[in-house]
Amino acid sequence: MQTGKINVQTENIFPIIKKFLYSDHEIFLRELVSNAVDATQKLKTLSAIGEASGDLGNLKVEVVIDKEAKTLTIKDSGIGMTAEDIEKYITQIAFSGAEEFVEKYKDKTSEVNAIIGHFGLGFYSAFMVAKKVEIFSLSFKEGSKAVRWECDGSPDYTIEELEKAERGTNIVLHIADDSEEFLEQYRIQELLSKYCKFLPVEIKFGTKKEIKKADDKNDATKEAEVEVEIDNIINNPNPAWTKKPADLTDEDYKKFYHELYPMSFEDPLFNIHLNVDYPFNLTGILYFPRIKKSFETQKDKIQLYSNQVFVTDSVENIVPDFLTLLRGVIDSPDIPLNVSRSYLQSDSSVKKISGHITKKVADKLEELFKKDRSDFESKWEDIKIFVQYGMLSDEKFYDKAQKFALLKSTSGKYFTLEEYAERVKPIQTNKDNRIVYLYTTNLEEQHSFIETAKERGYDVLLFDSPIDSHYINQLESKLKDTTFVRVDADTIDKIIKKEEAQPSKISEEEQKKLQQIIEEIVAKEKFSIVFESLSEKDSPILITKPEFMRRMKDMSAMGGGGMAFYGTMPEMHNLVVNGNHPLISKILKETNIDKQKQLGKQTVDLAMLSQGLLKGEELTKFIKRSVELI
Ligand code: ADP
Repeated sequence: MQTGKINVQTENIFPIIKKFLYSDHEIFLRELVSNAVDATQKLKTLSAIGEASGDLGNLKVEVVIDKEAKTLTIKDSGIGMTAEDIEKYITQIAFSGAEEFVEKYKDKTSEVNAIIGHFGLGFYSAFMVAKKVEIFSLSFKEGSKAVRWECDGSPDYTIEELEKAERGTNIVLHIADDSEEFLEQYRIQELLSKYCKFLPVEIKFGTKKEIKKADDKNDATKEAEVEVEIDNIINNPNPAWTKKPADLTDEDYKKFYHELYPMSFEDPLFNIHLNVDYPFNLTGILYFPRIKKSFETQKDKIQLYSNQVFVTDSVENIVPDFLTLLRGVIDSPDIPLNVSRSYLQSDSSVKKISGHITKKVADKLEELFKKDRSDFESKWEDIKIFVQYGMLSDEKFYDKAQKFALLKSTSGKYFTLEEYAERVKPIQTNKDNRIVYLYTTNLEEQHSFIETAKERGYDVLLFDSPIDSHYINQLESKLKDTTFVRVDADTIDKIIKKEEAQPSKISEEEQKKLQQIIEEIVAKEKFSIVFESLSEKDSPILITKPEFMRRMKDMSAMGGGGMAFYGTMPEMHNLVVNGNHPLISKILKETNIDKQKQLGKQTVDLAMLSQGLLKGEELTKFIKRSVELI
């Protein structure tokens, strides 16, 4: 037996590492299993080029718990290591790497925690959970002698020859007292499914029973069921994203989606297969899920892999913000994982990746739109949140998306931006040559206003999601000579002003009188009373919500920057009196003061009612009064 001393300045490096990494001890398993997979892949490569001879045999990696001995073993049949290899790769490199790590981060504990899980600590991470680690290894090189290396976490280690018949490496972790959770079957199973689910070599964790139908040879009508014990393989070594799109059917993509998210029962809407090898390496499949309006808390997130090893499911900074609601996988060995998040943001290859993903998503949407418009329309309610958010946050995406972004009319039809402009331009252009897009945010509450607009032959768009107020602002700034106005912002003829208003039928004196009557009925601070000469067919009194103020309030409610001020302003409405309406003349002419007041009140209440503003006691009184009047 030989003994040696690891050459490190820090007397005992392990407690420091252990303390640093307290939050993410579990990654040790990912590191050790991926080493085992690497060793297996290396052997396959060497064999393929004729540098390793003989039958490779079964190349599974195996994870074994021995509860009594309190060990966890990771076995592989890969290239193995000679005593020199261990000296070189494990002792020297690993330890100097660790020392560098400690040097670099000893003053930045918080930073360290932020990058945990991204930093490949490698073999060394075994000491986060083990009080002693043994390596048993036999190299593939002909004539090699098997070796056993042992280290208890101090800089002292031993290395000796031993008998080991099979090629490959067993890493035996003697689990520390404070880490005994890693001797539990369910815990290891959980970690294997989290980190190793798609590693490229089969990984066995125990066995499982399976019922198999066996033909009963003696009786052809009988099918006997037999229970067989088979290896419990925890991974799928050939996940869909590693295959060529041409070799995959829609069903395959769906199947993979459910493999990725076993708890998600709904099928995705469609997928985007990513496949780039220049200027960076990236493969993956992104899925558009059904989202609808509710922002449910999201558990199924995009997963980031590096050569099929799970890295993380927080992909902010790699995937543009507006696409983080997508699902799927991205696999890129080119994303630097051993850096902090702030660094990641400024990394140029990461920026390129993000740009590429944006472009791919836009291209796919355009393709779907062109290929089958009605199918695209049927999915629009699910995807519009991505498209609008993307158009708001990314100029390049806006440019592409304006070709397929749809506007939904209250008639149920969908239009592209260009189609819609063409449609409404001839009828909804006002006297100042601006096209006015009418919209509603609530089909029921604004029903009477929508109807009035439709009577004029106008079209009304439906904008009823929370992001819409921002989206409307953006469209307004992008579309030429276009204004968006909600149908209840004013009387329809003022919203789309075609000519100067006709003279009012009531005189100034009469207006003053009316003003007095109405001011006695309504709360002055909530309404500003305006007189207009509308058509006789319009309502006698209308209550409108001025566009600008309402929009500012909406945006402040959405948390728009700098809008907080508007949120504190009281709700303001216009009370529009239609001087041309016979009922208004009737109110004016009424000589019985009580009767006049009653008529006025009734007319105002009707207007309130159509805006959904008549509630509680006022509503009860209104109903009673109506009955009396009838
Ligand atoms: P990394 O995997 O990043 O190189 P590690 O500390 O995990 O760093 O491993 C150091 C080296 O030890 C590996 O590069 C490899 O040469 C060797 N090694 C580790 N585990 C095994 C194994 N199971 N079989 C063969 N070689 C291994």
